[in-house]
Order: sequence, then C-alpha cells, then structure tokens
Amino acid sequence: MLETRGLTKVFPNGTRALNDLSVTIPDGQFVVVIGLSGSGKSTFLRCLNRLVEPTSGTVLLDGKDVTAAPADKLRQIRMQIGMIFQQFNLIRRESVLTNVLTGALGTASLPASLAGRWPAAVMERAMANLDRVGIAEKAHQRADTLSGGQQQRVAIARTLMQQPRVLLADEPVASLDPATSHSVMRYVEQINKEDGITVVCNLHFLSLARRYADRVLALRGGELVADLLPNAIDEAKFKEIYGEDAMEVEVA
Ligand code: ADP
Repeated sequence: MLETRGLTKVFPNGTRALNDLSVTIPDGQFVVVIGLSGSGKSTFLRCLNRLVEPTSGTVLLDGKDVTAAPADKLRQIRMQIGMIFQQFNLIRRESVLTNVLTGALGTASLPASLAGRWPAAVMERAMANLDRVGIAEKAHQRADTLSGGQQQRVAIARTLMQQPRVLLADEPVASLDPATSHSVMRYVEQINKEDGITVVCNLHFLSLARRYADRVLALRGGELVADLLPNAIDEAKFKEIYGEDAMEVEVA
C-alpha cells in the first residue's frame, strides 16, 4: 500500500505546488492523476520517491516511512519504485539492451556492471523484459534509432529490471501520437494487471484516463479536488472541477 499524509511542497520561490495531499493507494491499483498544466501532478509523483523533497507530510510504502528514510534505506525503497518520464530518459548513444541493463544497477555488482560484465541471469531477464514490451529484436540497436513509442517501451523494460512494486509514470505518452500512446499504455496496463504493480500515472487526456484508470485523482492548484471512478469523469464533470480553464485540456 502507498499512502501520503498531508503531503506538501513549497518551492524555494514560494510556489505551493502541492498542498496537504492525503491519499491511500491499495496494492495493484491503476491510478491516473489529471489536472491542468501546473496543477502539481509532476511534483506529486516526484515527492512519492523523493526526486522532489517534500516540505512537509509523509509518504509511506507498506507502512515504511519513505520521507524519513536515510540515504541507504531510501536507495532500497527507490528500487521498489520504478519511474518513466515524458522524455523517456534513455542513454541515447547506448544500445537498447545496455539501457535496459542499467535498470539492474542497484542489484548487480557495480564494478562488473560498469565493465559490461553482467551476470547471465541479469542478461536473460533484460532480454525477457524486452520481449515483454515486444522489442527484443531491437536489443542491439542504438536507443536513439528507435521511435518515441519504442523508446518508452525500452524505458518500461528498464524499470521492470528493478522488479518494482510501484510504477510512477510522469506524462508517459505526452510526446506520442494517439495510436502510439495506446501501444505504450497497453504495456503499462499489462504489467499492472499481470504483475500486480501499482501504477500512478499523470495524463492529460481524459480519454486515456477513462480507458486505463481504476481510479482518477484530480489536482487543482496543488490540491486534491476529486477522487473518482473513471466512468464518473466526463467532460461535464471536468468543467465542473476546472471551470472555463478546462478548455485548455484535451478531452478527446
Ligand atoms: P504539472 O505536472 O501538473 O504540470 P508541476 O508539478 O510541474 O505541475 O508544477 C506545479 C507548480 O509548481 C507550478 O506552478 C510550477 O510552476 C511549480 N514548479 C514546479 N517545479 C518548480 C521548481 N523547481 N521551482 C519552482 N516552482 C516549480
């Protein structure tokens, strides 16, 4: 279970990006976070694994206090929390396989892995994870020769190397066209359903939120303003939450 209590982030310039957010996410739930640009979605996700240090409040993973964890404990906790990003964040000049293997850096012996000598079992897992996202045949290509959708699938395979309990996805399809977006989201859905990995995913397309979420959290001005089942969030509800600003958001 992933839980936040009073999670708050005030940036040094005084911006209150997240305000007193308390939410309990059961294991295996697929949570989609929606909101206008600047509503705090990315800050929320990044506070969950302390990529952004919360100003106050608590994050608990299976009752363990993420926010209070010292560096060595935080490393262990972060192994359980995978993350994918809008811009994929691959090492562009390295092969697809090497990129996937870097997901195991926290588990393998560092000197051996830096020298490119990965244990056979790790290598096998990397190939199996590439196979799961349907691009095993691209293993030896340079990462930057792949399309955007394929690169995001590499990023998913990389994060699977951590064998995470939770996957944070920060606008994972914002750079992709609609058809490719579905091809990526279907893999996220697959690992959620097959492996029981909890997913917390920021999206700005209502249609995608409705299609993939078990639960939709709506943020406005850093506050949680709605916690809904996906079929409860239609355009009218969205306008009710966001007023005329809702025009900014793509509801298609
Ligand atoms: P979203 O992901 O919903 O677009 P963000 O979490 O990126 O929203 O941003 C929430 C608010 O915090 C915005 O007002 C944004 O400008 C501000 N913000 C984000 N990062 C920083 C930062 N490093 N320093 C100052 N303000 C920030």
